[in-house]
Amino acid sequence: MKYLGAHVSAAGGPDQAVLRAVEIGADAFALFTKNQRQWHAKPLTDEAIEAFRTACEAHGFGPGQILPHDSYLINLGHPESAGLEKSRAAFLDEFQRCEQLGLTLINFHPGSHLNKIGEGECLTRIADSINQVLAETRGVTAVIENTAGQGTNLGWRFEHLAEIIAQVDDKSRVGVCLDTCHAFAAGYDLRTPEACTATLDEFDKVVGFAYLRGMHLNDAKSEFASRVDRHHSLGQGNIGLDAFTTLMRDPRIDEIPMVLETVEPAIWAEEIAWLRAQIADT
Ligand SMILES: [Zn+2]
Ligand SMILES: [Zn+2]
Repeated sequence: MKYLGAHVSAAGGPDQAVLRAVEIGADAFALFTKNQRQWHAKPLTDEAIEAFRTACEAHGFGPGQILPHDSYLINLGHPESAGLEKSRAAFLDEFQRCEQLGLTLINFHPGSHLNKIGEGECLTRIADSINQVLAETRGVTAVIENTAGQGTNLGWRFEHLAEIIAQVDDKSRVGVCLDTCHAFAAGYDLRTPEACTATLDEFDKVVGFAYLRGMHLNDAKSEFASRVDRHHSLGQGNIGLDAFTTLMRDPRIDEIPMVLETVEPAIWAEEIAWLRAQIADT
């Protein structure tokens, strides 16, 4: 079973994200549980939590089909202690919001060294940040997203993801979200069925499919290996449709939310239907 959806808006409350997912024919979705461009957010009210839980139940969304994304401001590998503490506090808040909403996954970008510390030290800081939040929460898995490697962002090499996981104490609550646009921009080719399968094989060798807890399905406006993060609608970018057909037919990808972050929400329903048809064709 492949769960397919999009990163929908939670404007009006998290329960509204559920309804927007239903409208586009999704059986998975992503959302922000707070404004992703602000540090602070009001706590979720009991009413908002109840409405979300009720909507999920009414429309058949289990926690394994929902992949919340954390704030873009958080840098879990921040080289300076003030920035690191602020990020860790905000990250804990993100986990606690997920606990309240009954969610079991949270997707985040690993962090950036800002040219002030080495890659190894930054990766250790990220792992320590994850260890701290896992010790303070229950039931939520930390899902590290691969990045395009823009600026000083780490996590663009599969080896970075493996290194972070190696330093996380509770391996049962750490996983990975693979973003196709980010992988392509980072230099992992996906343009032909063969290239796509080779990239997945490489992921399996370095990280392991056991850790794959979600995917972001995006075509790329950016060039191959450009380290630039620009998403595009499926089939309209430099990756092309073959990759997405291949992904839909790969049996190693199963029972995880696969979420569009493509640039035209008006065609999400169409993109989801197309992806589903790729599975049915096998
Ligand atoms: Zn992301
Ligand atoms: Zn993504």
